[in-house]
Amino acid sequence: MEKLEQLYEGKGKKLYKTSDSKLVISEFKDDLTAFNAKKRGSESGKGALNCKISSEIFKLLEKNGIKTHYVETLDDNLMLCKLVEIIPIEVVVRNIATGSLSKRLGIKEGEVLPFTLVEFYYKDDSLGDPIINDEHALILKCVSSLEVLDKLREIGRKVNDVLRPFFDSKNLNLIDFKLEFGMCDGEILLADEITPDSCRFWDKDTNEKLDKDRFRQDLGNVKMAYEEVLKRILG
Ligand code: UDP
Repeated sequence: MEKLEQLYEGKGKKLYKTSDSKLVISEFKDDLTAFNAKKRGSESGKGALNCKISSEIFKLLEKNGIKTHYVETLDDNLMLCKLVEIIPIEVVVRNIATGSLSKRLGIKEGEVLPFTLVEFYYKDDSLGDPIINDEHALILKCVSSLEVLDKLREIGRKVNDVLRPFFDSKNLNLIDFKLEFGMCDGEILLADEITPDSCRFWDKDTNEKLDKDRFRQDLGNVKMAYEEVLKRILG
């Protein structure tokens, strides 16, 4: 399958048409952005690492009954996916407090939450992706009904139930992650990517951060951290 006309360019990926109108090719970029793209950088090889990591995770989730847009990995940084209509909500699932949750609510960084927290953010760069509740999501027409929001929460928790023990077995603590979903033939599919750009992983023994926080916080060794995550996933 070949890349045809470019459909879209986002912060981390480009999307191309293919000869099949129901399939698209997602090209993972080396670019890194943080803080609503106020901070920008690039790490050669990061796109290929993220493509491999996301492919492995989508395959694992599919094996566990979670429907995704993943079809196959084509090349270093190219993934063949089903074309979906993206729901403009970022679903954030959290096991341990950090990042914006700690900042907003003063919950100590590293505190284990008493239960898995699922939050919705409105996908709108010009507004800075604000946190929203169910009623906001309906008013903004992000989804057609409350049932869809319940379904997003349910799938988010299920993804966590698969990934948390999986990463635990790789000596990684899955702190939090962001999911995006799309509609395809009336079905909700997990879409976008699951990578160290969209998840937080801490080494279980040392609490070393092995994700995009290395870029956000100028900790260095960004690529080495992503390589380490891939190595552990495959190991
Ligand atoms: N996240 C993401 N894209 C975003 C915002 C957050 O992938 O636009 C991920 C982030 O990597 C983390 C989780 O969602 O794993 C929760 O992020 P948080 O709300 O703490 O935001 P941040 O501290 O990055 O502003």
